[in-house]
Amino acid sequence: MASALTDKLTRLVKEMRGQARITESNVTDMLREVRMALLEADVALPVVRDFIARVKEKALGQEVLGSLKPGQTLVSIVNRELAATMGEGVADINLAAQPPAVILMAGLQGAGKTTTTAKLAKHLIEKRKKKVLTVSGDVYRPAAIEQLKTVTKQAGAEWFPSTPEQKPHDIAVAALDYAKKHYFDVLLVDTAGRLAIDEALMQEIKDLHATLNPVETLFVVDAMQGQDAINTAKAFKEALPLTGIVLTKLDGDSRGGAALSVRQITGAPIKFAGVSEKIDGLEVFDAERHAGRILG
Ligand code: GDP
Repeated sequence: MASALTDKLTRLVKEMRGQARITESNVTDMLREVRMALLEADVALPVVRDFIARVKEKALGQEVLGSLKPGQTLVSIVNRELAATMGEGVADINLAAQPPAVILMAGLQGAGKTTTTAKLAKHLIEKRKKKVLTVSGDVYRPAAIEQLKTVTKQAGAEWFPSTPEQKPHDIAVAALDYAKKHYFDVLLVDTAGRLAIDEALMQEIKDLHATLNPVETLFVVDAMQGQDAINTAKAFKEALPLTGIVLTKLDGDSRGGAALSVRQITGAPIKFAGVSEKIDGLEVFDAERHAGRILG
């Protein structure tokens, strides 16, 4: 595994040459480089601290101290721990509910909720052979309702109309009723988001959750959000029982440290990654590959 971090650690180890074995203080020096790499990838500071403490415990065991290549050994421990923290294995959408299985999309405005709703609709139609209905509860932005209509069509799903004059609760009830009557397997509910955390809006999505009793409540978060992702994640976790995360805009040039922050704060699995603006730009999240990207 050749990464910038491995190179740095190898250099550090070379400086230690002549010592019979590496010491705890050498490990501390190496961990300082790991910490820098995580901060450069925009992992939130408290999350970095926690993570380094966990790795330190492991690194002080025989595995690194007794290793012939302590730098590389440490990088592989860090990689393993990163991948394990972000979750291993595939976590597809849970549809184990009396149909229609409801999926509630939550997140800040601009995070990619509407785009992801359509991408998921396409995924569920093509990969899971489901009959999918979408609806927008964003009564504050008529353009958002229209946007969902357009992308739903691209996905080959059906769109349930809503208008800014309606209450989100009434929209939810009507869409659910329609989905039941027309035997839809899945109802995807897009919601309003603001640019920052907003009490009234959080209450609204909590109420929607109570009305819809969704089998999945997905937190959609922009990978480019960096350090701020932690506050957004905290607020949404407090408001809703999140069942999964979709990390969008991974095609951007961020190192994606938000993944670690958001995963650690919410405890919910990162299910998918958004990798383009296009309707097919959705991938199952790969924790191991992402660990490599964070370390740079
Ligand atoms: P919402 O306000 O949360 O519903 O966000 P939108 O779905 O409207 O997305 C906001 C912007 O981000 C739009 O310009 C989308 O095309 C873009 N977007 C969403 N997901 C991705 C992604 O995975 N990659 C890229 N490059 N752009 C994305």
